[in-house]
This record gives sequence, structure tokens and C-alpha cells, in this order.
Amino acid sequence: MKTIYFDNNATTRVAPEVVEAMLPYFSQYYGNASSMHSFGGAVARDIAAARKKLADLLGADPSEIIFTSCGTESDSTAIWSALRANPSKKHIIASRVEHPAVKNLCEKLEQNGYRVTFVPVDRQGRLDMDFLKESLTDDTAVVSLMWANNESGVIFPIEKIAPMLNERGILFHTDAVQAVGKIPIDLGRAGVDMLSLSGHKLHAPKGVGALYVRKGTRFSPFLVGGHQEQGRRGGTENVASIIGLGRAAELAAAAIGDENTRVRALRDRLENALLEKIPSAMVNGDRENRLPNTSSVAFEYVEGESILLMLNELGICASSGSACTSGSLEPSHVLRAMGVPFTAAHGSIRFSLSVYNTQEEVDFIIENLPPIIDRLRQMSPFWADARRKGA
Ligand code: PLP
Repeated sequence: MKTIYFDNNATTRVAPEVVEAMLPYFSQYYGNASSMHSFGGAVARDIAAARKKLADLLGADPSEIIFTSCGTESDSTAIWSALRANPSKKHIIASRVEHPAVKNLCEKLEQNGYRVTFVPVDRQGRLDMDFLKESLTDDTAVVSLMWANNESGVIFPIEKIAPMLNERGILFHTDAVQAVGKIPIDLGRAGVDMLSLSGHKLHAPKGVGALYVRKGTRFSPFLVGGHQEQGRRGGTENVASIIGLGRAAELAAAAIGDENTRVRALRDRLENALLEKIPSAMVNGDRENRLPNTSSVAFEYVEGESILLMLNELGICASSGSACTSGSLEPSHVLRAMGVPFTAAHGSIRFSLSVYNTQEEVDFIIENLPPIIDRLRQMSPFWADARRKGA
């Protein structure tokens, strides 16, 4: 059975070009970039080239890029660094829909003497800007807001928020793990102090990420050890994966137009057909300001997990929430924060596309999902009840 992969916000296929670029670094160029000999020195130069490619994708300077092991490490590093840079300040602001990499860290910090304000979102997943403005205090050390949400795809107005924080000298970190490679980002003018990204969301391997730290931002390392990454992250570099991330950044820069036209059109084709063919279905999130590849659709009165199992039997991979929360039957914290009604949150499915998806695959889902929902609803007492009430 062919795998039809629509779960690219969970992780992506490593691009064949990325694999090809990485392979020589396992058995041919295996030197340590810190070594004195030229065999290791060549590896250091290749890491520098990868750093430049990633910096170019982001409109940053290579010296502003620190390679890490994943998005989670980048998020933790950024927030801890901001707190260490401002030891007298004890207030943190994040949104209610942050990924657990930020949300759970903030909750931990709350138990350790910090005050955290979680900014709400509206029914469309849009940030409450007035609430954010009113939450800023002289005690605020850092604001951490995701650039784009992993479940709804909703994009926060990061570039609009930045000047407000820059003016007050409050450090601004953005978790851009889902945004990088999908929408254009220009850190030269975005005004953020720190940005996290993760390789495996943009067709590089798992186990590599990066943190952008704007020049002049006070920084304190999370992993203390050797002098790698100019003393900003100890640990021998994951060379092959860094090379892979550099190549993936180059590919993403070339494909971003395709992502925003062809991938967006495929997503819209899927979404519009499902809304048309399936009654009591709705999109979660602001359809205007959204990642081009993401669609979260609520099919009321059915269990998302049952839908996923039936899709799985056809080889279709999707997700019922974020990858990290699936396995729990509770609706995700993101959908709850958006105020999605319980009956809809439970039946929400996230489809996330990539440049590898085809119209044929989209049409296969359009053909097969409506009868699945219909069959599940025939078994649902909630649906029978809703029908009686006129759904
Ligand atoms: N932030 C967001 C928005 C994510 O979607 C993810 C992964 O799903 C992460 C952070 C964590 O990234 P990683 O898996 O590389 O630790």
C-alpha cells in the first residue's frame, strides 16, 4: 500500500538532495571541526558554508546562527538565556497556544518563582494584541510567541509586535519551527532577538536545529562545554546533519514560491472539497493568515482518533492534534484555547502538506474521507441527536 503523507507539521521526509549532501560526512569527511589538522579544518569550512546557507534563508548574518540539536533545545536556550540576561526580572509572556517546548518550560518556570502571562487567542486563533500590550511590565524579561501555530497554521504578526518590545528593551523570542521554509522570513527587518527552528520540519533530518541570536543580544549558553559555536553551545557538532540543514535551507529558499502557490492550491482544493462534501465540517483557524500547507478541519460529532484509524487503513497519514499530544483523548490545548466547541475539537483532523504532495493524493482523500465520516456518524449517538435538532 502506498503511503499518502499529510503529516508534514509532525515531521518531513528528508529530501534526497539532503541525504546526498550528508552521506560523505559519515565515512569520508569524518574529521572533528575543532582539530588542528587540515582534515578537520575542511569540515569546519563546510559547517561555515552550511551556516551561511541557513543565514541566507533567514536574512541573517552567519554569526547570528547557533546550531542546536532540535527546536526544543533552541526554545529552551532562548528563554533561559533571556532570563539569565535579566536576572532581576521575573516576568515571562507567552501565548496560550505555544508548543509544549515553550508552554511546558514556562509552566516549570512558574513553579520556580517566575510569573508567566499566557496571552489568549480568539476563535480564529489570532493573538489578543490588546491583552499582550497590557501585559507588558517593567519586570518582563522575555516575550516568547510562535511565528506560526503547528496545529492551526495561524500566523502571529511577529513583525508588528517586535517594535513595541524593542522600544521597551524586552527580549523577543519567536518559535518559528513551523514557519521557516514555508513563509518568507527576513530577520534583517523582523526585529526579533531570537528565533528557533528545527531541521526535521523542513526536509532536513531529525536531531538538528538552530537558534538565531541577533547581533548585540546578551546571550548565555544552555549547554556549557567546549568552544564550539563560538562558545555559545558546547558539544561536538552533528556535522552531517548540519550539512543537511544547510542544503535543506537552500532547497527551501528555492521552493518557497512553490510552497506558496502549488502547495497552497492543493491545500485549498482539499479543504474546499471536504467542506463542500461533508456537512457540519469547519476549518479551525484564520483562513487568511495561515501557513500555506496546513489545514485543521473539525468534523463535528465524530472522534478524530476513529477518523485517523480509518484513514490509516488506506495508507493516509494525518494527525488529530499536535504530534506531541496525540495519544491523549483530551482535545488539544490549542483548540481549547481557541474555544472550539468540544464536539468539534474532538473530531478535528490536521492535514499538513509538503512540496512532495500531488493532486492525485489530494483527490484520493477527497474521494475517501466523506464516506468515512458518514459511516462513523451513523454509529454516533451525538450525531443522531444533532440531526434531530437540525444539524
Ligand atoms: N515548536 C513547534 C511549533 C513545533 O511544531 C515543534 C515540533 O513539533 C517544536 C517546537 C519542537 O521541535 P523539535 O521536535 O525539533 O524539538
